[in-house]
Amino acid sequence: MAARSDSAPALPGAAEVVILGGGIMGVSIAYHLAAAGVRDIVLLERDTVGSGSSAKPMGGVRATFSDPGNIVLGQRSLEAFERFDETFKTDIGLRQVGYLFLCRTEAEVQQVQRSIEVQNDLGGSSRMVSPEQAGRLNPLLQTRSLLAGSFSPRDGFAQPAAVVAAYRAAAAELGVAIVEHAEVLDIDAGRGGVRGVVTQRGSVRTGAVVCAAGAWSMRLGAMAGVHLPIRPVRRQIGMTGSGRDRFPAVPFTLDLATTLYFHNYFDGMLLGISNEDEEPGFGREFSHGWVPAFDRAAEVIAPSLARRDLAAGWAGLYENTPDHNAMIGSSATVDGFFYATGFSGHGFLQGPAVGELVRDLYLGVESFLDPAPFSADRFSNAAARIDEVHII
Ligand SMILES: Cc1cc2nc3c(=O)[nH]c(=O)nc-3n(C[C@H](O)[C@H](O)[C@H](O)COP(=O)(O)OP(=O)(O)OC[C@H]3O[C@@H](n4cnc5c(N)ncnc54)[C@H](O)[C@@H]3O)c2cc1C
Repeated sequence: MAARSDSAPALPGAAEVVILGGGIMGVSIAYHLAAAGVRDIVLLERDTVGSGSSAKPMGGVRATFSDPGNIVLGQRSLEAFERFDETFKTDIGLRQVGYLFLCRTEAEVQQVQRSIEVQNDLGGSSRMVSPEQAGRLNPLLQTRSLLAGSFSPRDGFAQPAAVVAAYRAAAAELGVAIVEHAEVLDIDAGRGGVRGVVTQRGSVRTGAVVCAAGAWSMRLGAMAGVHLPIRPVRRQIGMTGSGRDRFPAVPFTLDLATTLYFHNYFDGMLLGISNEDEEPGFGREFSHGWVPAFDRAAEVIAPSLARRDLAAGWAGLYENTPDHNAMIGSSATVDGFFYATGFSGHGFLQGPAVGELVRDLYLGVESFLDPAPFSADRFSNAAARIDEVHII
């Protein structure tokens, strides 16, 4: 736990709703609730706002999924990211360079074709591309191992810290009490529902909490008797310095077979790959353990990116649920317990839309999407799990 700063504001004794966690989800939910007129909102953050997984230096934003719910959340968020400048007078570094998914097997081609149909039925603009077209979109690619690709031009990447800061400032302006260095130690809840939250700095009486504590949410759910199955797993990225020759501007490019991905990062490139061998745990120390797997994949897909010196690296936590999709809903057994967590590596891009969805859930009004499929209760019924193929 981080030390409390002297300027930390006092902890309010009571609130209408307490948000647990100050990542992209917590601040987006706080802003959307406050903008809808909810008063007496308190956001509790154990550390500093944006210091969890939302501290990723650059985050991909996309609506390129196979599950309709994920596609709608992605599209709704893309709309919000596109309007951010106008709404919050903030440059979030949005670069809509597109997402390029690479297919190297017939099964991947068919999978991607099916996803494109669903995306475009919902208003998307994705298309299949040949290996030659993929090579023109991304000159760093070695295309001979490719069968095809998919390209979705509206997608891209942006800076999570800028988005978090904008939501935080707007929420504070609307009166949300954002309290950092306030660790939630217990939740007072029973048959009558939620009654309060206990921190090391005192307690807050409330009838409603929203658990938005990312990889740490399982502990918080357990405090209220709500099961939120999440396994934290370390994930790492590296950033190269600027190339000897300048890197070309390329789409966010992802090889489905290996999960290698890369995109521009200021003058350099951001490199990543999923680390299948990583044991679950809360450790966030950066290591180079993932680099050999990246280099092996890059030799085949983008040889000029293999064995690059890294100028910087970052390690964070994926907040994995059993089907690698989010849990968004309210508890059927503990009144006043809401949750938006377990985004399993795509939480930045879903942040704006989930803020709206949780606002509507809290207010009990119809939303742009029925959140029922994202309920944590789905894990008691194997058939209700979400089948999403574009998770990396
Ligand atoms: C390597 C890597 C790459 C990624 N790439 C992408 C990407 O390209 N696109 C994308 O959309 N997503 C990406 N993600 C995922 C994304 O970063 C997360 O899904 C998202 O940041 C989750 O936000 P959150 O608000 O739910 O959680 P967090 O940002 O982790 O916030 C949770 C907060 O809760 C606080 N907390 C925990 N316990 C307590 C407590 N007891 N009391 C009070 N506060 C507490 C924590 O301190 C933390 O600040 C990536 C993640 C990693 C690790």
